[in-house]
Amino acid sequence: MSVACSTVKMTDKNGDLSFINQESTQWRDVPKETITYAPKKETIMLVGGLTILQDKLIETALHSIGENFVALPNPDFESFQKGKAFGNRGQCNPTYFTVGNLVKYLQNLRDEKGISTEEIVQKYVFVTAGGCGPCRFGMYITEYKKALRDAGFDGFRITSFEHNKGIFQSEDEDESLLNLSPKFFITLVKAILIGDIMNLLGYKMRPYEVEVGSVDKAMEECREIVSLAFEEKKNLTKALWSCRSILEKVALNRLQPKAKVMVMGEFWAAMTEGDGNYNLHRFLEAEGAECIPQPIMNRLMLSIWEAERKLYKKESLVVETDKKVDFSSVKSRIMIKLAKTAVKTHFSLYAKAIGLHDYEIPDMDKLAALSEEYYTLDCEGGEGHLEVAHLIESVKDNLSHLTISVKPFGCMPSSAVSDGVQSLVTNRFPSANFLAIETSGEGAANFYSRVQMALFKAKQSAKEEFDELTVPESVPEKVHNYLYQPHNAKAGTASQLVHSL
Ligand code: SF4
Repeated sequence: MSVACSTVKMTDKNGDLSFINQESTQWRDVPKETITYAPKKETIMLVGGLTILQDKLIETALHSIGENFVALPNPDFESFQKGKAFGNRGQCNPTYFTVGNLVKYLQNLRDEKGISTEEIVQKYVFVTAGGCGPCRFGMYITEYKKALRDAGFDGFRITSFEHNKGIFQSEDEDESLLNLSPKFFITLVKAILIGDIMNLLGYKMRPYEVEVGSVDKAMEECREIVSLAFEEKKNLTKALWSCRSILEKVALNRLQPKAKVMVMGEFWAAMTEGDGNYNLHRFLEAEGAECIPQPIMNRLMLSIWEAERKLYKKESLVVETDKKVDFSSVKSRIMIKLAKTAVKTHFSLYAKAIGLHDYEIPDMDKLAALSEEYYTLDCEGGEGHLEVAHLIESVKDNLSHLTISVKPFGCMPSSAVSDGVQSLVTNRFPSANFLAIETSGEGAANFYSRVQMALFKAKQSAKEEFDELTVPESVPEKVHNYLYQPHNAKAGTASQLVHSL
């Protein structure tokens, strides 16, 4: 809710124009007609917006704890067009894609499935992460409501949890609708982490598959195993361990020197797997590269790091108080520590179980230290200092042959701030092969062409790196087994393997 203050035009007897402010009134976003909504047990919650695998896992995981959640399909170009048709002007790319995707889904329920608009509005609710902040993220819910109203779904409910509060949500009117219990968040986070791990493995294996499509097929089998474990409340670690035998059967040829490309940038644009970033990951793979995607866990770790930093700053303020100990601060510190440990422990456990050995959980303090000189750490919009930190880390630790930063058009933190800083970073680190590229929804040809140009250089680097090494005459079998993941100073997977021999 916000307070609206209306200005009224007045004309005096001489015809002179003047303006007066009327008294402030409370502004409420309420539907025109009174709506009787369906009871909670008949309500269907819609979610979506992460990777395809994660959306599916979340749907199953939340079903397993008795929540009626349905994952929306991946946003496509039609979603974008609907977002533009019904949304406000001047929004950022993810807003158009995600808002339009919901409108498209509801229109499909109405026009294809024959469910009346009244029933849709009464029974369905969209659940999203909300929050405050300097970018448009804080406006998403208003934007959803505006587009839905104009598309004929006035009164459709949108509810949110604050993305940076995790299990520490404040109580509000949505609480009766959304069961924001610790169990809800723990289940949600488990599904997200497992999705991250399986995605990371998929991107490591797919470029080297001998038979096209075999990695996707194996990953789908693994997803079914994990989904079943969620549904039947079985041990998830054991389920992931049993996926090893499926993945080990996939034939790989890992001695191909392929360019390694780190894909980062604005959270949604870098993570989505579809028209939202012109299917960038699959495009890179088709062009002969290996992707390093940014897992959602990075965003979780950044939120925890930001909360810890705020707390530290609060504690270091000299406040004159009679209190010897600030108990609220102590409680927050314990909760932050618990959250950090829980995320790290679960990620490591699940990663080890399925066989992702070489992925290092991002060290947020190290990333902050790397970027501090270039980017104010207190700027929290979008990915904050992380884009700058990822580029510096990639160059210093030789993590990739190319770093692509994907930014949605109209993104304030990513395009307007980070890009300006990155020109200084690339100046100081001239060996960086860096491409900052905007996604506009339209203009795929230009996007692909720029990616191909940067990739050409990356492929040359990968080949040169590989050619410097001597491949032994007899290569042990383990080299082509996905479980063998040596870690050394080389960037390319083939070079890392040969170097390790
Ligand atoms: S970070 Fe950029 S793209 Fe993402 S919501 Fe904010 S303004 Fe939009």
